[in-house]
Amino acid sequence: MAIRTPEKARRRAVSRRRTARSTRSAKASARKRIWLFEEGNASMRELLGGKGAGLAEMSRVGLPVPPGFTITTAVCNEYNAKGRTFPPGLMDEVRRALGSIERKMGKRFGDAQNPLLVSVRSGAKFSMPGMMDTVLNLGLNEETLRGLAALTGNERFAEDAYRRFVQMFGKIVLDVPGEKFEAIIEARKHRGGAKLDTDLSAKDLTEIAKEFKALIRREKGVEFPTDPGVQLEMAIRAVFDSWMGKRAVDYRNFNKIPHDLGTAVNVQAMVFGNMGAESATGVAFTRNPATGEKRLYGEYLPNAQGEDVVAGTRTPHPIAQMDRELPGVYRQFRDVAKMLERHYKDMQDLEFTVERGKLWMLQTRSGKRTAQAAVKVAVDMAREKLISRDEALLRVEPEQIYQLLLPRFDPEDKGAAEREGKLLARGLNASPGAATGMAVFDPDTAVEIGANGQAVILVRPETNPDDVHGMLIAKGILTARGGATSHAAVVARGLGKPCVAGAEAIRVDPQAKLLSVDGQVIRQGEFISIDGTTGEVFGRAIRTIDPDLTKERDLQTLLGWADHVRRLGVWANADYPRDAARARAFSAEGIGLCRTEHMFFEEDRLPIVRRMILAENEGERQRALDQLLPIQRQDFVGILREMAGLTVVIRLIDPPLHEFLPRYDELLVEVAELRVRGTDPRGLEEKERLLRAVAAMREQNPMLGLRGIRLGILYPGIIDMQVRAILEAACTLAKEGVRTHPEIMIPLVGHPNELRVVEQRVRPLADRVMAEQRVRVAYKFGTMIEIPRACVVADEIAELAEFFSFGSNDLTQLIFGFSRDDAEGKFLLRYVSDKILPENPFQVLDAKGVGALIEMAVRLGRKARPDIELGICGEHGGDPQSIEFCHKVGLTYVSCSPFRVPTARLAAAQAALKEKQARAERDR
Ligand code: ADP
Ligand code: MG
Ligand code: MG
Repeated sequence: MAIRTPEKARRRAVSRRRTARSTRSAKASARKRIWLFEEGNASMRELLGGKGAGLAEMSRVGLPVPPGFTITTAVCNEYNAKGRTFPPGLMDEVRRALGSIERKMGKRFGDAQNPLLVSVRSGAKFSMPGMMDTVLNLGLNEETLRGLAALTGNERFAEDAYRRFVQMFGKIVLDVPGEKFEAIIEARKHRGGAKLDTDLSAKDLTEIAKEFKALIRREKGVEFPTDPGVQLEMAIRAVFDSWMGKRAVDYRNFNKIPHDLGTAVNVQAMVFGNMGAESATGVAFTRNPATGEKRLYGEYLPNAQGEDVVAGTRTPHPIAQMDRELPGVYRQFRDVAKMLERHYKDMQDLEFTVERGKLWMLQTRSGKRTAQAAVKVAVDMAREKLISRDEALLRVEPEQIYQLLLPRFDPEDKGAAEREGKLLARGLNASPGAATGMAVFDPDTAVEIGANGQAVILVRPETNPDDVHGMLIAKGILTARGGATSHAAVVARGLGKPCVAGAEAIRVDPQAKLLSVDGQVIRQGEFISIDGTTGEVFGRAIRTIDPDLTKERDLQTLLGWADHVRRLGVWANADYPRDAARARAFSAEGIGLCRTEHMFFEEDRLPIVRRMILAENEGERQRALDQLLPIQRQDFVGILREMAGLTVVIRLIDPPLHEFLPRYDELLVEVAELRVRGTDPRGLEEKERLLRAVAAMREQNPMLGLRGIRLGILYPGIIDMQVRAILEAACTLAKEGVRTHPEIMIPLVGHPNELRVVEQRVRPLADRVMAEQRVRVAYKFGTMIEIPRACVVADEIAELAEFFSFGSNDLTQLIFGFSRDDAEGKFLLRYVSDKILPENPFQVLDAKGVGALIEMAVRLGRKARPDIELGICGEHGGDPQSIEFCHKVGLTYVSCSPFRVPTARLAAAQAALKEKQARAERDR
C-alpha cells in the first residue's frame, strides 16, 4: 500500500469535497427536467445534448435563436428505466415551458387564430445517426391550418406546411415507410402534370394531406392525432424510444459510446424559410471542411424548409451567392459565423433559416473535417492566436496524419479514368486509402490469386466472418450493401485496409464472378480501383502515388511543434537503406529494428543461405558463411551510412531456418514426379537429399521451436558472421569519418544464461575485429524482450544487456497464448466484435496484461542498469493508444514503420500533453 503523506491526504480530502459539491449541483440540475434555452449553456452537453447545449449557448450570447426548451437526457434515462413511462408531471412541465415560448412569440399552441408551431428535435451528447429525425410544423391540424393561412395570407404555404407535417409525423413518429408518402406525391404530380413539388397547387396539397392520413389509417389503424398536445407528447416519446432503437444501439456499440447517456429532446418555435423570395434555409461551415481554407463554405435554398437543402430535390446555391440575393442577411450571417468560431475556438457547422429577411440560427456544433482540413485548421487557429500550440496539437487525431500519408490515386490518372467514364459508383468511405487490383468475388479465389503476390480487391455483396481469410490477403474490399458499421467496414478498418462499403449502384454476382453497374460488367481478373477515403469505385487500374511530406507545410509545422513537446523518441523499423532514407525523411531519430533475415531471402543469396543450412559438416557451413560475410557487410554499410550519427539496432537472425528452405509438401510432390518419370536420377538424388534435410528440420510448432537465440547457440557461426559484418561495416565507415551507432540485438531470450553464452562470443569477437581494423567504434549489446519469462528476470538480463527492445508482437502472442496468424484468421475478430476483448491486442497494446509485464521489465531493468536504453519495436510502436502507454512507463523511444513515424510523433506529443493536463488537474 502507498503511504499517505499529509500533503496527499489533504489533496485527497479537497478533491473529495470538490466531487461531493459537483455531484450535489449535478444532482440539482438533474432534477430540473426542462431547461429553457436561455437558462443553459455550452458546458451542459451531457444533460442537454449537443444540439440543446448549442442552442442554449447561442441564446445566452444574444444570437437570434427561435425560443424553445430542452427536456434533459436524464429524463430519457428515467423514461427508459421505467419501462417507457414519463416521469410523473412531465407533461405539465412541458406545458409550462411551452407557455414561455408562447409569450415570447405572441402565439398560442393549438390556437385557431394565431397558432404556435414547434419543431421537435432529438440531440444526444454526441451527434449520432440512428436517432429520431426532426419533426417540423408540429401543432398543425385542420383548424390551426386555417389560422396559419389567414395569418400569413398564404394559403398554399399553409397547406404545404401541413402536408409536410403529416408526412414527417407519419414517417418518423408513426413509422409508416417513407416511400409510401413519396409515391402519393408522385402520383398526384403525374396526374396534374406537375414536375416539381413547387408546381403543386394549394388544392393538390390539401388532397395529398388527406391521402396521407388515409394511408396512416390503413397502415397503422389509427387516426392522425389532431390535438397538438397529443402530437407533442407522441413526438417526445418517439425521440426517447429512438435512443433504444436498434440502429442507435448498434452505432453506440461500434463507437464505444455508453448506453446510459440518453438523448435530450428540443422543442422549438418554428420559423419559416419557405415564405417567399425573402426567405431561405441553409447550412454552412465557418471554414472549408475539405481543405481547411478560411472562408465560409456551405449552401442555401431560397424559399425552402428544413431538410430541402440536403434532400437533393432542388439544387442549392453556394453560400457566397447569398451576398447578392440577400446582402443584409448575408453580412449578418457572416458576422455570426465569425463570432461563433471565436466563441467556440473551433470550426463550426451551422444551420440557419431566414424568414422574410430575418436571420434565425438553428444549430451550431464543431464541424467534421477531413484529415487535411484538421491539420490546416489547427495550425491556422494557433497562428491566429485563437488557440495555443498545445491545443492545436490535441485537435488532430494521430490517425488522421496517417491517412494524409497513405498512397493516393495519381490525380491525372484518376481524372483520365473519370473522363473515360470509369467511375462506376460511389459507396461509403468505410476505411481510408486507395487500392488497385484484380477483382475477385470470393475469399478462396482471393487467397489463390493473392498468394502469388498479385494485388486483388475482394468484391462481395456484403461480408461475414467466413470471408476474413480473403480480406486478409486483399489490398482492398468493396461491398454493395452495408454501412459504416457493417462487417466489411469494421474488419477493414481493423486491418488498416481500404474499404468502400454499401456501393448500392453495383450489383455483385458471386456465382457468375462478376459485378455490373449501369450495363458495365467487370469480371473476375479484370482490374478495379477503390478509394476508401472518398468512397469512389473505378472500373480500371489507377496509378497510386505516395504523398510528399515536404509539400505538406502545415503538417510539417504541426509536427515541429510536436517534437518540442514530446519526451519519447520516435524511431523506425527499417531493413534496407531505402526504408531508412524514408524514415529519415519522416524525421525518425534512429532505427529501432533492422531485421537481418530479410536480406537472406534475396535471390542471389538464398542458395548460399540454403547451403549454409544444409551443410553436412562444419567446413562446408563455414564456406557458405564466408560467402555471406561480404554481402551482409555491404548491407550494414548501406544502412549505417544512411543513418549516420543515429542509432541502428540490428537484430541477429530470428526466424526458424526452415523458412529459408523449399516447402516440404512441394518437395514431396517433386520427388514423386521425378521418381515416376525416372529420367533424371541425379536430379532425383539431389531432391531426395533436400527432402531428407527439410524433413529433419520440420517442427511441430516452429514459432516456439528452433529460432532466435536458440539458433545462435546451436549454430554460433551465424552469429559470428553477422557480428563481424556489423563491426567491419562500422569500422569501414569510421575510417571514412562517418559516425555510426550500431547496436547488436539478440532475439527471443528467456533466460540470462542464453544471453551469457552469446555475449561471451560477441564481446571478444568485436574486440578482435576492431583490433584487426585498427579503429575503435562504439557499439551496444542488448536484447529483445519478447518472452514473458524475460520480463520477470529482467534485472538479471539487464546485467548483460545494455538495452531492451520490447518485441510486443511475440510478447502478446506468448502472453495470450495466441498464434497471431491463426487467431486473426479464425476467432480474434469475433472476440473483438463480441466484446470479449476490447480491441485486437496485436493492434492496441493490452495495457493490463502485456503492459503489466512490460512495466515489470522496465522497473527491473532500470534497477540493475539505471541508464538502460528502453524501446519498443513491435507494431504497437505506431499505435497512438499504445504510444501513450509507452510514454507513461517511461520508455526511451518507440519504433514503428516509416510511414507511421509522423503519426507517432504527434501521438507522443499528445501523451506528454495529456500527462501535463492530468498533473495540472491533480494540483488544482
Ligand atoms: P439534424 O440533427 O438531423 O440536423 P435538426 O434538428 O437540426 O436535425 O433539424 C434539421 C433541420 O430542420 C434544421 O437544419 C432546420 O433547417 C430545420 N428546423 C429544425 N427546427 C426548426 C425550427 N424551429 N424552425 C425552422 N426550421 C427548423
Ligand atoms: Mg441539424
Ligand atoms: Mg519476435
